[in-house]
Amino acid sequence: MLERLKGDFDLAIITFFGGYSALGIAPFAVYRFLAGEYLLGTVDALIVASILGNMAYAWISGNMRRAGLLMACFNTLGCAAITLMFGHHGLFWVFVVVVTNFFLATRQFAVALNAILVFAVALHPTAFDLPLEQVSFLVTIMLVGVCTFLFAKRTATQREQLEVLASRDPLTNAGNRRLMEVELARAARQFARDGQEYSLAMFDLDHFKQVNDNHGHEAGDQVLAEFARLILRGTRKQDRLYRYGGEEFVLLMPGTDSRGAEQLLFQLQDTIRTSLRSPGGGVRVSAGVASLRAGEDWSRWLARADAALYAAKNGGRDQVVVDERESADSAPPSMERRRAGA
Ligand code: GH3
Ligand code: MG
Ligand code: MG
Repeated sequence: MLERLKGDFDLAIITFFGGYSALGIAPFAVYRFLAGEYLLGTVDALIVASILGNMAYAWISGNMRRAGLLMACFNTLGCAAITLMFGHHGLFWVFVVVVTNFFLATRQFAVALNAILVFAVALHPTAFDLPLEQVSFLVTIMLVGVCTFLFAKRTATQREQLEVLASRDPLTNAGNRRLMEVELARAARQFARDGQEYSLAMFDLDHFKQVNDNHGHEAGDQVLAEFARLILRGTRKQDRLYRYGGEEFVLLMPGTDSRGAEQLLFQLQDTIRTSLRSPGGGVRVSAGVASLRAGEDWSRWLARADAALYAAKNGGRDQVVVDERESADSAPPSMERRRAGA
């Protein structure tokens, strides 16, 4: 349980905030009932029950986005109800809710909820003793709201930048190996769920060491960047390119069977032949293609593409080999591969 809380920031926020609010409000519910204020006691009890129910939903479903949105709605409604019924006792909670809504919900949703809450409270005739109090409330809550909004925005931008840094190769702007593993695993799960077809190609530039040796590392870098650019230009938006390492790349093609992948690979190979240049002349590429099979995990799938690439290299390079085996175990591979483009 502690492990899950440590690994999931959203769950931790929902649990901490939910637990803290439920514990803070529950004594009021008891007190109201004991004092005979049944309506107010019922409102408090309902708020506590909603918060606890939502916490349970977050833990069981794992859907933090929805649980966060729901909790932000409960908190806003509860806070509005308490303030409108009890007057200014509830005002302290308005500050808490305005801030925490940004942690629980999306920025846009938090802004909408906060605007409704602040205006409902500020315009209510019994919430303030003096007009000056009302003005002070509006000024301070606006300041808190705007500061928290800006903080949430900056955090989101930094997180996006970090995600790019952690998942992209800076030289070629292709995804890195870590992102590839995540997305291949996701593809395998999707295929198991709804049969969506996927193919992947593994590329390795031919005799690339010679480019470096003869023209320097920088020229080699330029060839790598240009290779990635040509592949991205020749593929669809949903196709994903990753730099697997060195001069090896992986292309993931969603919704593509092995025939479609083969055709696309021939086109790409053609593009590389005609357009990829180093200072010493044309650069060629070898590729192995494999379509995802039933019951296969991503590492076996990738291993089949790698084996097909190996066959392309062994067959003389500058060619595409498609692995056509029905499963990773069926043998012998070389009998069932179609080779083309040599
Ligand atoms: P093969 O046709 O068998 O693939 O031959 P190759 O020369 O391409 O293969 P090898 O594995 O011998 O060499 C790969 C070269 O790729 C060696 C390494 O210097 C170069 N390389 C790897 N990463 C980078 C990089 O980021 N920039 C540059 N310029 N070169 C790189
Ligand atoms: Mg290599
Ligand atoms: Mg190579």
